[in-house]
Amino acid sequence: RQNERESLLIMLEFAKEFFKKQLLDSEEGRSIALPYFKERGFSDATIQAFDLGYSPEGWDVFLKTALKQGFSQEIIERAGLVTNKNDEGKVYDRFRNRVIFPIHSVAGKVIAFGARILKSDAKNQAKYLNSPETEVYHKSAVLYGIAQAKNEIRQKDVCYLVEGYTDVISLHQAGIKNVVASSGTSLTIEQIKLIARFTNHVTVLYDGDSAGIKAALRGMDLILEEGLQVNLVVFPEGQDPDSYVRSIGSEAFIEYIQKEARDVISFQANLFMKEAGDDPFKKAELIKEMVQSISKIPDAIQRSLFIQKTSQMMRLEEDVLLAEMNKIHLKKM
Ligand code: ATP
Ligand code: MN
Ligand code: MN
Ligand code: MN
Repeated sequence: RQNERESLLIMLEFAKEFFKKQLLDSEEGRSIALPYFKERGFSDATIQAFDLGYSPEGWDVFLKTALKQGFSQEIIERAGLVTNKNDEGKVYDRFRNRVIFPIHSVAGKVIAFGARILKSDAKNQAKYLNSPETEVYHKSAVLYGIAQAKNEIRQKDVCYLVEGYTDVISLHQAGIKNVVASSGTSLTIEQIKLIARFTNHVTVLYDGDSAGIKAALRGMDLILEEGLQVNLVVFPEGQDPDSYVRSIGSEAFIEYIQKEARDVISFQANLFMKEAGDDPFKKAELIKEMVQSISKIPDAIQRSLFIQKTSQMMRLEEDVLLAEMNKIHLKKM
């Protein structure tokens, strides 16, 4: 078992080096992929720090190189680096003509890849393609950037959680290094536990669109349940942390975060008040949702303080809210 894991990691390390070489040393990489990263503002140091690479055009450039190097087709398949071509079991490179974002384990080993098309207008291909689940890659337990961020998360005692690879990379380059990405999936309990190894403060910086706000709210209850303290920041419509930090610079970005960060309850209150207007039925429903969130917090004192806050913001007796919360607790038992 241990040996199998080890040989997969060696395979993935070889692939990482291959993609890096393609980016930096091949004519194709230097003429189309490197300029792509440069246009996004990534420096050479950043490209190094994140092991960025390029997978060339053609069906089997990687496959052939790996076989020639002595790797078996079986292990290339198990590493998720090829994909089935047809029923006869013929395989071809999974990543072709894409820029490559290696995904590292918390210990800094490459365990998978994310890959992006070069053009921004994806006609009939997915913008991002990822490695499949393998023996070493369990998507739901991984946070992109954790290896590069962990020390800084511990030191700053806060973890910024973003959606995308490029958000992590741009913030890192701007000097904000305590940042990891959930990579577009909804947040899992394993990911939260990973963060909790380094800090119990999370600030969620999801994209400034309705999808981002919804995703952020969906993750909240899980984070609260783990006993972490969580804040949210919303970006101007159409901006994500990558685009925003590049447009306003790192100092203004940090100021923005400090000014705009809201705890979950204030955030929900604001959002919900706008939604409900003065419709009492709607308002009641939304207040129940807030109490639902508060009931997830394991610490009784924190719970009680949030109930107080909700009571003030919503102009409702604390007793009413407490009764509602007791109902939820009774249901759980
Ligand atoms: P870019 O700035 O390069 O356009 P982004 O990170 O802003 O990328 P989003 O569309 O905001 O891209 O998506 C956030 C994250 O979700 C991506 O970084 C990626 O990890 C994941 N993702 C997006 N689209 C896909 C897809 N089609 N398949 C798999 N993962 C995806
Ligand atoms: Mn988005
Ligand atoms: Mn983006
Ligand atoms: Mn985005």
